[in-house]
Amino acid sequence: MIKKKRKLHWSENVVLGELTTFKIGGPTRYYFRAETEEDLIEALRQAREGDLPVFILGSGSNILVSDQGYPGAVIQLANRFFRFSGQEMEVGAGVALNWLVTEAARLGVGGLECETAVPGTVGGAVYGNAGTPDHHIGQLVKEVYFINRKSLEPGCYSAKQCQFDYRQSVFKEDQDKVITSIVLTGQPEKREVIWERMHDLARRKAASQPRFYPSAGCVFKNPPGHSAGALIDQAGLKGHRIGQAQISEQHANFIINLGRAKSRDVLALIDLIKEQVNKQFKVELVEEIIILPE
Ligand SMILES: Cc1cc2nc3c(=O)[nH]c(=O)nc-3n(C[C@H](O)[C@H](O)[C@H](O)COP(=O)(O)OP(=O)(O)OC[C@H]3O[C@@H](n4cnc5c(N)ncnc54)[C@H](O)[C@@H]3O)c2cc1C
Repeated sequence: MIKKKRKLHWSENVVLGELTTFKIGGPTRYYFRAETEEDLIEALRQAREGDLPVFILGSGSNILVSDQGYPGAVIQLANRFFRFSGQEMEVGAGVALNWLVTEAARLGVGGLECETAVPGTVGGAVYGNAGTPDHHIGQLVKEVYFINRKSLEPGCYSAKQCQFDYRQSVFKEDQDKVITSIVLTGQPEKREVIWERMHDLARRKAASQPRFYPSAGCVFKNPPGHSAGALIDQAGLKGHRIGQAQISEQHANFIINLGRAKSRDVLALIDLIKEQVNKQFKVELVEEIIILPE
């Protein structure tokens, strides 16, 4: 039970499906939207005093929430400050990645084009090292500031300490840290060149990804030397449907919600894909999406 000492506006029984791009999932017991670091710290403190598990939500574009919802406190990070200085960008973790990509292009700061059409917040992107197979946000990161959930003390990691790898960072390993802000460094570039790269990537994504049905992006990481989508396609699973969840006909690494898909439908498709790909190609697929409760 949360004891509301300092006044924070906690909501109860908020349906998480509404806060995700998949549009799937039941309610969280408590929900709070933190617009400042101070509010985040206070919310973490109140959840800890209430002995509640905490899940940090960015903009919900990489998660599958259980039909039963979440029996704890979901804190959505919406701290949206930003500072540009030359090629350096300091942004709150709650800043929308798409906004940052466009703003950097407008200012002639190159490097973030690989994040074109990636939904979500900058904090979420750093957590999962989002990007294309070859380029990712970690390549631009200079420093990441965070709050430790247990001690509620602030900290900072250099890019090296973040241990970025393909869809991987130290923050995925160490769930104690909530990313609060990020310093990124781009390189000077002509605006037209940046726009052209962005348009090219946006065109390719529009042609290859299902954009008209709710999804959480790619479900699986690409295993070393393989494309997860190609393996699922070769396993003959494209278009396979369980309930209202379907393996996309357009991109086999996307599962789409045809309307009223349940989390259990998606999980059944995930199990089927893993089993068939392992059976047919002896390859273990690993989820890229985060399944909640973890
Ligand atoms: C149509 C579509 C296309 C996509 N294309 C791509 C793509 O091209 N490349 C790519 O990499 N991804 C892609 N994705 C996946 C998704 O957009 C990214 O993973 C994105 O970075 C997730 O950010 P988010 O803010 O939505 O995080 P959420 O989905 O809200 O959270 C994801 C994880 O990050 C954690 N997290 C979020 N914020 C913080 C924080 N401040 N501190 C600590 N932990 C945090 C959450 O706890 C959770 O575990 C796509 C998704 C969709 C729906």
